[in-house]
Amino acid sequence: MALSADQIVRGNWIVRELLAKQKLKDSLELWGDIAGYFGKEEAEQKHIANAFLLACLLDYRRRDDSWAAVSKFLSRYPEFRNDIWRVISETPQQEWKAASKQYNLHWESRPHNRLWPIAVEIVYWFGGDARCIWSDGNAINTLTRLYWIGAGEQISRMIVGALKDCGIVSGKSDPKGDVRVCRVVGRSILGMEIDPTNASKAIRICREIHPTDPWKLDGPHYLLGEICRGHTPDCRNCYLREKCAYYATTIIPGAGDGSRK
Ligand code: SF4
Repeated sequence: MALSADQIVRGNWIVRELLAKQKLKDSLELWGDIAGYFGKEEAEQKHIANAFLLACLLDYRRRDDSWAAVSKFLSRYPEFRNDIWRVISETPQQEWKAASKQYNLHWESRPHNRLWPIAVEIVYWFGGDARCIWSDGNAINTLTRLYWIGAGEQISRMIVGALKDCGIVSGKSDPKGDVRVCRVVGRSILGMEIDPTNASKAIRICREIHPTDPWKLDGPHYLLGEICRGHTPDCRNCYLREKCAYYATTIIPGAGDGSRK
């Protein structure tokens, strides 16, 4: 994606604002126990790493419902606790699918079902130990291995970013191109939303405006997505308003000033 000169200038301003205004949280607050797992004893380390990966595969993002679902699942079914991936992979696939409601890891069955083939890959390639996926501490290698086990493009990016935040891997990485990131990147830089099915466009823009580490733009964009809502963006309370291309060009219904919200 080649941005125009104007878009680059706007992008540089937006990056400065995003990085300056982001509310810095420590990695423990952001990602939970994985942030401090190096200090734990071996078995606990493995358990934390596997539980973290499981929650991420269910789309765990910043300590939301997936983490709670995984904790509940592991305390209710302790047979999974010490070797999650092996126990899942040794459960017949149809039995695993049928247990979606019982285990209640996700309200939809698809995220639950896809854990089975991923578990088979994790056991085959990494001995059922998530730590082996990132043991060399390299961001791009970790991303490649996550793609390989079938974690999915965007969730793999989130996992690598989380591991970077926790100091477990290092190197350049991309933001997770989810619905919020696509919306805020698209609106603020281009003046229109980017459809999440075209997330690579949002990612390429992040690479262009912050080439040293596009992942750093993930958290601030995600948080701004709370107010940059689909039909009712709260531009009055958005610190990107001054240069936002969408705000500058779009008439938003209900606007107090006759043109914009
Ligand atoms: S100014 Fe409005 S449209 Fe632009 S990023 Fe902020 S909330 Fe979204």
